[in-house]
Parts: sequence; C-alpha cells; structure tokens
Amino acid sequence: MPAEPAQPEHFDVLVVGAGLAGIGAGCHLERSLPQKSYAILEARDAIGGTWDLFRYPGIRSDSDMYTLGYPFRPWDSDKAIADGASIRQYIRETASEYGVEGKIRFHHQVVRADWSTGQHRWTVEAQRGDTGETVQFTCGFLFMCTGYYRYDQGYTPQFPNLDRFQGQVIHPQFWSPDVDYDGKRVIVIGSGATAVTLAPVLAERAEHVTMLQRSPSYVVSLPAEDSMAKRARRWLPEHLAYAFVRWKNVLLMMLSFQLSRRRPELAKRLIRRGLERNLPPGYEIGRHFNPRYNPWEQRLCLVPDGDLFEAICEGRVSVVTDEIETFTAHGIRLRSGGELEADVIVTATGLNLLMLGGIEAAMDGRQVNLADGLIYRGCMLSDVPNVALAFGYTNASWTLRSDLTCRYVCRLLAYMDEHGYTACTPRNHDQTITPEPFVDFSSGYFQRSIEQLPKQGPRPPWRLNQNYLLDLAMLKAKPIDEPAMEFSRNGAAAEPSAPADRRLPAAA
Ligand SMILES: Cc1cc2nc3c(=O)[nH]c(=O)nc-3n(C[C@H](O)[C@H](O)[C@H](O)COP(=O)(O)OP(=O)(O)OC[C@H]3O[C@@H](n4cnc5c(N)ncnc54)[C@H](O)[C@@H]3O)c2cc1C
Repeated sequence: MPAEPAQPEHFDVLVVGAGLAGIGAGCHLERSLPQKSYAILEARDAIGGTWDLFRYPGIRSDSDMYTLGYPFRPWDSDKAIADGASIRQYIRETASEYGVEGKIRFHHQVVRADWSTGQHRWTVEAQRGDTGETVQFTCGFLFMCTGYYRYDQGYTPQFPNLDRFQGQVIHPQFWSPDVDYDGKRVIVIGSGATAVTLAPVLAERAEHVTMLQRSPSYVVSLPAEDSMAKRARRWLPEHLAYAFVRWKNVLLMMLSFQLSRRRPELAKRLIRRGLERNLPPGYEIGRHFNPRYNPWEQRLCLVPDGDLFEAICEGRVSVVTDEIETFTAHGIRLRSGGELEADVIVTATGLNLLMLGGIEAAMDGRQVNLADGLIYRGCMLSDVPNVALAFGYTNASWTLRSDLTCRYVCRLLAYMDEHGYTACTPRNHDQTITPEPFVDFSSGYFQRSIEQLPKQGPRPPWRLNQNYLLDLAMLKAKPIDEPAMEFSRNGAAAEPSAPADRRLPAAA
C-alpha cells in the first residue's frame, strides 16, 4: 500500500515575516495568548526585515525610536534617530527576551495560502531557501507581517544608456561592503529619505557627492538626541519615562501632520525658516528644497542634527535639481545641457511595493484578488477570513499601527476562543460605500502600485486612518463584535455578527 502523505504541521497562528512587526506579533502572542501554538515563517536567514536587509552607509531610522520601538520594551538609548545596526540589535534582543526567537522558521518563503471553508483553516505553502523543498503547514489564523516592498528588487527607472557608464552603479537596497567610494566622485540619484541619508555619509570619504534630484522633497533637521527623553529617564522609572516620551512624540507628530494638512502655507513657511537657518546665505532653496506638493502629501525627510545641510555648507555635497537626459561613459548628461562626472552612481530611486509578501491567496482553490477588497479596521480584508496584515502609518512610525494591530489580533483570537468561533470574516453590507484609494499619499512607490492595493471606505470600520488616536480607539477599545464582522464555527453556516441574542450560543 502506498504510504499516507504526512499531515502538514498545524499551528493556531502562523505569522509570516520576522521583521519589526512579526517579532512584535510573536511577543504579543507570548504575552497575551501563551496557550496558542504559533510559528513565524521567515524567507530570509535573519531577524529584522528592513533593518537587516538595508546595509548602505549611514542607514538609520527617519522617525524617532521612542515611537518606532515597541511600547512594551523601552528604547533606552539617548539616540532618538538610530542607526540600522542598533535597531537590528533591538529587534533581535526583543525576540530573544520574549521567547520568540525559537519560534522562527528561517528560509521559509511563503508562496501560497489557501483557505478551506470546510475546515476553517489555511493551508500555507512555503519554499525552503536552504533545501529547495516545498513544505506545507496549516493554521487557524494567518498574520501577515511581510512589510510593504519587494526584497528581491529595488525600483530603478529606465535610465537611457545606463550600460554606457564605465563606473559602478549600485542600488542602496543591494549595497555591498566592497563598494569603493574613497576619494571618488559620487552621484546619488534621488531626493527621498535614502538619498538624504546617504549623501552626507558618503561625503565623509568621497571626493565629492552630488545629490541629483528630478524634484525636491521637504527636508527638516531634527536633533539626533531627544533632550527631554534624557531628562525623563533621569527623573522617572524606565517604563514611565518611555511612555511619556512616546506620547510626547506621537502628539508632536500628529500636530505637525495636522498643521501641514490644514495650514500648508504656514507649514511651508516654518520649513523654509529652518532651511534658511541651516543653509548658506543666498542658497537656492526655492530650486532645491521647495517641492511642488504640500508638506505631508509625501513623507517629510528628516536629517539628524542637519548633517546634510552641514555637508552642503562645507562644499562636500551639492544638490542638482534637473532631469537625466542620458548616462554617458563618465557620468550623466542633464536635460539642461550640463554634464556631471562620476566614478560611482547610487540609484536611491526607491522601492517596489509588494503586499502580503507576494503570496498567492486563494479560497477553496479559487484565487483571491487583494485589490478587490476593502480594508477593515486598517488590518483585515473584506470577505477574507482569519487573516490580518500589519501595515504601518505613512505619516508616523510604523510600529504605532503594527503594534495596535497585534493587540487587536490577540483580542480577536481571545474573543473567538471565548465564544467557540473558528472563523471571522469582515463583510461590507453597506452598498453606499464608494471605494477610495488605499492611501492619499502622492509618493511614487504608492502611486506606481495603487492598483494592486486594497481600497478603503469613507468611514469606519473601512477607513484606513492615518491617525494613532483614532486607531487606538478603533483597535483597542471598540468591541470586537460589530455588524461588519461575521463569526462562524467550523461546520456551521456563517452567522453575521449581531446583537448577542441573535448569535449562536457559545460552544460548550
Ligand atoms: C530604508 C528604510 C528606512 C525606513 N525607516 C523607517 C523609519 O524610520 N520609521 C518608520 O516608521 N518606518 C521606516 N521604514 C519602513 C519600515 O519598513 C518599517 O519601519 C518596518 O521595519 C517594517 O517592519 P515589518 O516587519 O512590517 O516589515 P519588514 O521590515 O519589511 O519585514 C518583513 C519581513 O517579512 C519577510 N517576508 C516578506 N515576504 C515574505 C514571504 N512571502 N514569506 C516569508 N517571509 C516574508 C521579509 O523577509 C522580512 O524579514 C523604513 C523602510 C526602509 C526601506
């Protein structure tokens, strides 16, 4: 007789991704639902996601660590803006301290997940990077902590005649320690967070760095160290000091965003004043640091202690705002006619967005198109059962929302256990909802991929808030059972959530 195929290993929860969000998810499961079995499937061989992948010189956070850190584990350094290695270490230490490390299956790239309506479970297929095997797992709940961009490629526009250039071209996502820029002429193409980070750091060793941008971004200098955090730590117990600084930064961030959205002219004037203080007299701020959009229609670029401006003042970095006509053997010819010579060109031109880690999702064998759905409470998808996704804010630290999402998932799972439910599915019964784009951000990486993203609605629970206070209320305080969430039990017909007396009796 042929041998029975081995049963796939089963977990109550499968988390996909061992980055900042996935490790946070593991910590919440350990703390709130220690009875649940779970594993974290991670495609790479390391913890940290973004903070392990990106290794370009100067890699750092561009939001403060008191809000990018986990609320349950204080960030105890004086540095508010931290380097990539410190963030990586913080994530690793958290994973080890909370017992999450041992739950990670490295080299497991999840490629497919199929929901069985009959069994109320997901069958998850992963490809092992180390052995080449395809392995299967099953789980009751799938928690996607896969970030928002492709790991295997960065975004590089089609530059004319790129191959003619005789020097080295490198994308920051694939930086390698043997890129030699000592004493060399470097061009950094781009105007985003990566370009403004790289330019002053490369300029410490390069002959000269030119930051070549097609259009400018808003750039704001912020102290690398938070003096209030230092004082708070002196006076208050560690957790209290951390909570205090975290809230201070949350509120300041919200104030800056709201001011920019409601009074964009005032916000522009304030940003300009900062630039005038930091840049040499007569500097062409209008040309190089005056974007066509309003502040916070795209993410602001933060530079710690004005390092970019200092490098500009010292003549080590120059900014050129122009378009690329063509690459040449020795550099780049500009549309305005000039030519920039270079030995090394860094294409800090961005990321390629990728939702749900590129997995193919299906229900009972039929493929599910993510873009057809509405986002529910900022973390689930309409008509897709037992899946949550951790997605951060565009206008504040990622962890603020990803952590609320983890808490919500734990509440949801506890609620389902309490009532004996095995499936939960957000359903939109409101025919008047007109789907809107996922975000109203004009950043290139969102605009390039907006068609692949789910939609949002005009009001809760279908609204994707970019507001921590609203999410705090929606994810932490609002009841789990509400009309848009349908709960059911394995083998029972789907039962829309409704006032308690209309729901199925709790399982014995
Ligand atoms: C250079 C850079 C700087 C940034 N700076 C900031 C900042 O200062 N502040 C901020 O708020 N945000 C910042 N971000 C956004 C950043 O991605 C988040 O801060 C945060 O690290 C996201 O964590 P994550 O765990 O959700 O995703 P990621 O860090 O992207 O981790 C996702 C993990 O999932 C794994 N994975 C993906 N798909 C699969 C799959 N199919 N199967 C198995 N595993 C999979 C990946 O290998 C990875 O380990 C930055 C992003 C970049 C690129």
